[in-house]
Amino acid sequence: MTETKLYYDKDADLSVIDGKTIAIVGYGNQGRSQALNIRDIKCGANVIVGNIEDASWGRAQDDGFEVFTISEACKRADVVLLLIPDEVMHKVYKEEIEQHLSEGKVLCFASGYSITYNLIEPPKNVDVILVGPRMGGKEVRELCVNGKGFPSFLAVKQNASGKAKKIALAIAKAIGSTKGNSVVIEVTFEQETLSDLLSEQALVPLIMAAWTAKYEVDVENGVPPEAALMELHLSGEWAEDFKRMADVGMIKQLPLHSQTSQYGQLTRTNRLLTNEEEPYYRQIKAFVQRQAEKIKNGEFAREWALEQETGYITLKKLYEKFENSPMIKKEQETLRRLRK
Ligand code: NDP
Repeated sequence: MTETKLYYDKDADLSVIDGKTIAIVGYGNQGRSQALNIRDIKCGANVIVGNIEDASWGRAQDDGFEVFTISEACKRADVVLLLIPDEVMHKVYKEEIEQHLSEGKVLCFASGYSITYNLIEPPKNVDVILVGPRMGGKEVRELCVNGKGFPSFLAVKQNASGKAKKIALAIAKAIGSTKGNSVVIEVTFEQETLSDLLSEQALVPLIMAAWTAKYEVDVENGVPPEAALMELHLSGEWAEDFKRMADVGMIKQLPLHSQTSQYGQLTRTNRLLTNEEEPYYRQIKAFVQRQAEKIKNGEFAREWALEQETGYITLKKLYEKFENSPMIKKEQETLRRLRK
């Protein structure tokens, strides 16, 4: 296996985008933050915004950007940063973007989805790259304002110019990712899609199932529901633990817990991972593998496309179901009491 390529601020050269026009298509979570960061970082590129004519259009104007229809922005741009939701991207691309992708232009995604599932097939004479922050839009802006960066994934699908990776690195730097020597990791579009979706479709469900089981067993054993929820996520202690894991690592942060806690955490995790006494890890891993398979073979993408076509019926039903589950109802009631 070849060594993963990591890039830092020193590896990114802004001169490759100097004098270029960058169109931010979609002034939402990522779009607004990336546009403001690029302008503040003064990378020599001119930033314009392409959006539908609604509140975000006005917001971009209030922020001082020139705003155009998506089609007009892409016509004017050398580099198009596609920052609209993945589910609408292919339609908007066909109707407003494709015709403006002349030779030498750069199409940059923040997610691998549309390319992985061939929803968008760009012309061969443009660069197709991905610069995907591993951070929400709000934090992308806040970190930059505070002089810090955020990790991103980088990928190159098409290198028509011969400079696609350099351009991707320059964009990563221009959006503030490499500030504070934060890292950019090279992956493929397919790997970004798999890893991103697998977090959502395997990791989160397992965490939510474990969360629910812990809540139910606490309450069945007489723990007040409010206390059970506090022990779960409402105190914010876990959020702090996760921050420490990001800083020093999963095991290295353990000494900050009591020794009873350290012993309990490590022995029971070991029992799960080794399938000794608690033979569930095989099943957990099999669940994760099944979700990975469905992501890789396109089954999830087909299921999601059908869900969109049928008006998000399942999504709406599940929101209703979960919002009315005993744990979530109690959680909302507790939050209201906490805010009194
Ligand atoms: P948002 O949901 O914030 O939407 C972005 C923009 O798309 C908004 O300006 C919105 O307009 C516009 N938009 C919505 N529907 C349409 C449409 N039918 N036609 C034209 N424009 C439309 O997106 P995000 O910023 O969350 O995501 C953008 C990209 O970044 C995606 O590829 C996503 O996967 C990726 N990404 C997102 C991250 C995140 O934390 N959110 C992290 C990393 C990558 P309006 O506001 O006017 O409705």
